[in-house]
Amino acid sequence: MSPRTPSRRTGARSPRAARPSAADVAADAAASAPTPAVAVTPEPVAEASLTLAQQEARTSEITFADLGLSAAMLASLATAGYSRPTPIQAQAVPLALKGRDLMGLAQTGTGKTAAFTIPIIERLMGGATRTRALILTPTRELCQQVEESIRKYSGGTGLDVISVYGGVGYEAQTTALKNGVDIIVATPGRLIDHLEKQHVVFDDLEVLVLDEADRMLDMGFAPQINRIVAQIHPYRQTLLFSATMPPEVEALARKYLRKPQVVQVGRRSQAAATVRHCVYPVPKHKKMDLLVHLLREAGADDSVLVFTRTKHGADRVVRHLEDAGYAADALHADKTQVQREQALARFKAGETKLLVATDIAQRGLDISGITHVINFDVPQQAEDYVHRIGRTGRAAKEGDAFTFMCADEIGMVRTIERVIGQEIARISVPGFDFGT
Ligand code: AMP
Repeated sequence: MSPRTPSRRTGARSPRAARPSAADVAADAAASAPTPAVAVTPEPVAEASLTLAQQEARTSEITFADLGLSAAMLASLATAGYSRPTPIQAQAVPLALKGRDLMGLAQTGTGKTAAFTIPIIERLMGGATRTRALILTPTRELCQQVEESIRKYSGGTGLDVISVYGGVGYEAQTTALKNGVDIIVATPGRLIDHLEKQHVVFDDLEVLVLDEADRMLDMGFAPQINRIVAQIHPYRQTLLFSATMPPEVEALARKYLRKPQVVQVGRRSQAAATVRHCVYPVPKHKKMDLLVHLLREAGADDSVLVFTRTKHGADRVVRHLEDAGYAADALHADKTQVQREQALARFKAGETKLLVATDIAQRGLDISGITHVINFDVPQQAEDYVHRIGRTGRAAKEGDAFTFMCADEIGMVRTIERVIGQEIARISVPGFDFGT
């Protein structure tokens, strides 16, 4: 699309690497940075002031073997096709393997999921089946994605993982929980239901992960999180990941983490470095036509994620696209779980090239190969821009981010530019621009 101008376990645990590795150096740099008594400002890690690209350059010498991983894990990572750890992995994995509590500040697409799933698998490999790790995530989509990540890296270890979320029946989850499972990935609401019915106990829990903590708090999950953590003994390892660090997340970290190391990738609020940003000034009533116009120029292999502000807006855009001859799916909260899963699966498989979503799809979703994110409506919060844009340009791939800006959205775009610390190029398309 143009313009682009701008026992049952077999995986024996290998001894941890004793030699000081490049990764140890990176981890030690983080570890030797002043740790706040109870955390929690993201400043202490020296890496914090570097951009993602600079960090990638710094950690580019580090290999997975340097991180002290088992042979089984190295084989899984090779199968996944990963040649080197991402900066968050290079920093976080050695610290997590040492059993440290950790606060990871990482934007989407940085490889943060593997930064916690890899050490968890290493820790649990070879042990008896008891529920030893719990990962709390804000949405069912993210739950499934974390579960997939665990399955991908734990092949052959015999570790069992289950994801537990609402919107589906209880029975299968109840049976799996009662049978015993090593790792649970859950949304807080549904997990509370199972805890109340005593389908699961956390007596043996060793590792707790709060993933996308900012998002969980945004969604009002604080009371559920408190109730769940109250069931877990304090001698656990706690890892907290968040894209942003508002005071509420700092308070959560202060409450639940013990002397955490803070690992930050990319400057706060920085948008993914591999994304080209453009703003299209366009009168509101011409946004649909501009979308179709840009899609006409899209390559056959382009896969496009369009964000709208409202559910009705998403449905309207889908109808309009269909009228124009494009197959598109909508993803929003009024769709059933099955519809959402099918829409995502089709999009992931490349069967549909166009997905129109509200912010439900904004964070965490790992859909690789998205070439374009189009903000049909300018997001209401600058942080949301960063998260939406995080859908493209993931793990060092390149992507385009187009934002349609009508007159009453100009102020919001300026705010976004301030927050991400860069001006976004304006692209004027004759016939669609403000001047016509
Ligand atoms: P995440 O930020 O966890 O959502 O991960 C973003 C994407 O990066 C996912 O598709 C991962 O499979 C991929 N990924 C994670 N680690 C690596 C790595 N070391 N090398 C290449 N891709 C990776």
